[in-house]
Amino acid sequence: MKSAVIPVFIPHLGCPNDCIFCNQRRIAAPKVPDVSDVRGIIESALEYTKLPQISFYGGSFTCIDESLQERYLSAAYEYVRAGRADSLRVSTRPDGIDGNVLARLKKYGVKTIELGAQSMDDRVLLLARRGHTAEDVRTASKMIKQAGFELVLQIMPGLPGADARADMQTAREIAALKPDAVRIYPVCVIKDTALCDMYERGEYIALTPETAAELCADIWEIFIEEQIPVIRIGLNPTEELSDGAAVAGAYHPAMGQLVRSERLYKKAVQKLDALLPFENALITVPRGKLSDMRGQKNANAAKLRERYPGSLIEIKERQDQKEEIFIAKI
Ligand code: SF4
Repeated sequence: MKSAVIPVFIPHLGCPNDCIFCNQRRIAAPKVPDVSDVRGIIESALEYTKLPQISFYGGSFTCIDESLQERYLSAAYEYVRAGRADSLRVSTRPDGIDGNVLARLKKYGVKTIELGAQSMDDRVLLLARRGHTAEDVRTASKMIKQAGFELVLQIMPGLPGADARADMQTAREIAALKPDAVRIYPVCVIKDTALCDMYERGEYIALTPETAAELCADIWEIFIEEQIPVIRIGLNPTEELSDGAAVAGAYHPAMGQLVRSERLYKKAVQKLDALLPFENALITVPRGKLSDMRGQKNANAAKLRERYPGSLIEIKERQDQKEEIFIAKI
């Protein structure tokens, strides 16, 4: 799971779905790369990466026209056969998987399949107009693993109809499927989507970056306990999203750091509460973790001051510390 990735985005114009958070149907048709574009993308990326995975991201790769899929796969597979790329990777929908699809992906050197599961609550999936069920996620995940592919599952906390309990339950059910990795995309309300209409009519209360960080920190803990790597939290920041396409919700250019900081804050509070009563305390973290512990703009330090008024709590980094967080009365 560690090799570098060359992302090739294939917008899925023919998607039969209309998920409420997706703007594919309302935006002007983006250019779909042809096979020579794909080669060009790979060639230029190969100047900077060694033995990468070539990844078809974007819509639902296995649902696009079969002959076009084969052309893309075959163009990318040339690089695997030439020893210049490690393997291929595709992302798709749970109901875009069957025996024929898996055989095709195997034939072209696909090693990793990412599935957009989003939720394991059928009511939430229905409200999001996903067009598949939680059982589809289970079935597809099982087939992918049995066929020897690496499995990455994506979830989307904060959808309409889901509360923190439902999202935590989704995380537990996703962990039980034993994926090789997970991506957590807390809901971001994008312009030109049905979700945005609901939000503007007051029918949907969006997460904020802060509430999303709290929720994702708890969800992440579930995957840590099960030793399942979380390879991404939050949408990749883009100019478009920062310039207004992200109308509300969990969009933050450093969402991952917000979540890491929130997680350390929760751990600190747990340990400090166990030390009560105390006058002053020292929190130490390993090298490189100081800014996560302090939080953006020292937010964690401020929250700790507020929670333990009258106490002085110092936060320091210790070069040789192995423990994630160490706390002592001073
Ligand atoms: S399946 Fe994917 S591409 Fe299609 S509407 Fe839903 S999110 Fe958009």
